[in-house]
Amino acid sequence: IVPMRLQKFLARAGAASRRGSENLMTAGRVTVNGQVVTELGSKVDPLVDEVAVDGVPVHLAQGPVTIMLHKPAGYVTTMSDPQGRPTVAELVPTDRFPGLFPIGRLDFDTTGLLLFSTDGELGNGLLHPRHHVEKRYLALVNGKPTPEQLERLERGIQLDDGMTAPARAALVEGAEAKRALAMLEVPPAVPEHEPNGSVPSPQRAAILRKRSQERAVVRVVLREGRKRQVKRMLSAIKHGVLALHRDSFGPIELGDLPRGQWRELTPEEVAALH
Ligand code: URA
Repeated sequence: IVPMRLQKFLARAGAASRRGSENLMTAGRVTVNGQVVTELGSKVDPLVDEVAVDGVPVHLAQGPVTIMLHKPAGYVTTMSDPQGRPTVAELVPTDRFPGLFPIGRLDFDTTGLLLFSTDGELGNGLLHPRHHVEKRYLALVNGKPTPEQLERLERGIQLDDGMTAPARAALVEGAEAKRALAMLEVPPAVPEHEPNGSVPSPQRAAILRKRSQERAVVRVVLREGRKRQVKRMLSAIKHGVLALHRDSFGPIELGDLPRGQWRELTPEEVAALH
């Protein structure tokens, strides 16, 4: 690594955001080799210089980094969006871990576990169809699928890009369904606007309210990852998806990480992914 600007070093080391790092410097809280440095243009050599904030040494991360994000609805899975929509890049520490990229994708409105890594080989390996990494989803659907319909999903179903591989699909009921509903970002039964922009009439609102009484939570476990696969599979059995959440990816579980938050994987979790 070549010499870099001190505020960039601080951001990469996780001391604060780029802006916050500048504030730390101007506040006189940053030392380089024991000397307070407040000038924003100053450079450091990460291999030689000792940088500290409030006397506590800070270091750059060494080696590849893998993190998990609890993705909220309303973010695109990309590091930059030409259309200017909110992206997951805004939620993960790209200053601190340059080169971070998402492993796979979740739809704009899908929530839950999304992994990111600076390790390209790990990402490519996990996404390769040959590896059959298991992904677990909770889907809130219109109506209640019958056991026969769920069996069709398990055996394989014809989509316009071919048959799906064997999967698991089961109704989630009782206390587990309550917990699932708390995780899902459920849209209101009667939207303020219809997809075509019109305001629902009172009659239409009554129908929508009645229909919202007939919903079910379905657990779907896949070992492939085609575009919008869970939604397309459930649509194919006539139970449209209202909300979708992923709670695990291979051996990694989202657990109780709050929505919108990220954390580094533990060394055990990273080992389990390899
Ligand atoms: N399947 C979907 O339909 N959407 C996702 O975001 C993930 C899986």
